[in-house]
Amino acid sequence: MAAIRSINPSTGLERAVYEEDSDAVVEQRLAAAAAAVPALAALGWDRRAELMRAAADLLESEIDDVADLITAEMGKPIAQSRAEVAKSASSMRYYADNAREFLTGRELDDPSVVGASAARTRFDPLGVVLAVMPWNYPIWQVVRFAAPALMAGNAGILKHASNVPQSAVYIGELFTRAGFPEGAFATLLIGSRRVEAVIRDPRVAAVTLTGSEGAGRSIGATAGDVLKKAVLELGGSDPFIVMPSADLEAAVETAVKARTTNNGQACINAKRFIVHDDVYDEFARRFAQAMDALVVGDPADPTVDVGPLATESGRSDIEELVEDARAKGAAILVGGRRSDIPVGWFYEPTVIADLTRDMRLYSEEAFGPVASLYRAASFDEAVAIANESEFGLGSAFWSNDPEEIARAEREIEAGAVFVNGMTISYAQLPFGGIKRSGYGRELSKEGIREFCNLKTVWVA
Ligand code: NAP
Repeated sequence: MAAIRSINPSTGLERAVYEEDSDAVVEQRLAAAAAAVPALAALGWDRRAELMRAAADLLESEIDDVADLITAEMGKPIAQSRAEVAKSASSMRYYADNAREFLTGRELDDPSVVGASAARTRFDPLGVVLAVMPWNYPIWQVVRFAAPALMAGNAGILKHASNVPQSAVYIGELFTRAGFPEGAFATLLIGSRRVEAVIRDPRVAAVTLTGSEGAGRSIGATAGDVLKKAVLELGGSDPFIVMPSADLEAAVETAVKARTTNNGQACINAKRFIVHDDVYDEFARRFAQAMDALVVGDPADPTVDVGPLATESGRSDIEELVEDARAKGAAILVGGRRSDIPVGWFYEPTVIADLTRDMRLYSEEAFGPVASLYRAASFDEAVAIANESEFGLGSAFWSNDPEEIARAEREIEAGAVFVNGMTISYAQLPFGGIKRSGYGRELSKEGIREFCNLKTVWVA
């Protein structure tokens, strides 16, 4: 079996090495998960909610250690790691409080129209769900699947990204430590080539992936082949449109945050800044200045804004995208190179303008602190540039014109439109994409229903 390594991206030094789980361990975890499904049902709503609150309390009580772990394992600034843990705990409580209501079926008012004495719907759990998760929010990505899944009565098996094994082990033990039945949620330390066999296992009912398009194609194909439900949360190249009536100062400030949060490695980071001609030059000047002023360095230092990229290959990918654009004539307004920090995988916050369709950055996702600037002569052109992307995850629209706002809501092709703000995930709002950003929804009422059987009951 191959080794799974935790390497600190700020130093390049190895933190821990794990052996991949053997086939016997995988078998044992799958059997335990299948056995946990009736055990979860037997607990009932109230007890599951109590256990979910206990898990939230436990996570919160360990926030210092967990935040340090996230920062050391994937490099996000420490304040953002703490925020990730806090958000995870509060979202667990949200599902503890609301799952029962979200999964309450409806009674038909007049069952005689279907020839019944009673007719209703109910939401039953599907069973064991496999979650294949990315490293960029190593706790939150898992919790946003696990909290609704467990509250619905599903068991979860986690295959986490191979560069965050310590986070994988921690979160894989949290729910049982809080009192959930053995096997109800557990981690498999396996490489991606072993995912297919798990999806095909008859005890696994469904699969959810958050990750790249490539992983989405492969997992979606396997799930399709065995006719199992799949939810795919894939990449994004979110537009951030700025119109002349927008509050420019607020737009610039938010734009910087929207591009560089999580060291620029979030699916919903704004990546393409599409600015109306009337305010383009001023926006570009202020945005470039603010990006240039960001402090790059050790993410454990609370004064640092941007840490390293999570992997060496992630930094190479970003470098190649930028070099391709530079070679084809793009203008690099700031950054455009590795940072001077001698160790670790740091890259300078970068703003690039004058992009053309032959450049990879025009159509590909930039997973790092690299912003692309586009000039638009009108609302129609701005929306056309936004919609030209094959992705359709989040979007931001900045304007104070009510008609423009109404049109943007309708016309932007994305899973979310944030007006005068930046795309953020909230437990209370559904989250997901269209086009090549995937299908299905997480979070809120819609998310918990994805892995349930909406069952119709008809009584003579
Ligand atoms: P990735 O390579 O696709 O990895 C994500 C997960 O999928 C990991 O657990 C990985 O395992 C696994 N995986 C990769 N290839 C696979 C395959 N062929 N079959 C089965 N499993 C496979 O993604 P990444 O590049 O690390 O993460 C960044 C991507 O995720 C970006 O595109 C980002 O936009 C997207 N993302 C989307 C959302 C969303 O909600 N839409 C949220 C966060 C991130 P290994 O690590 O073992 O390869």
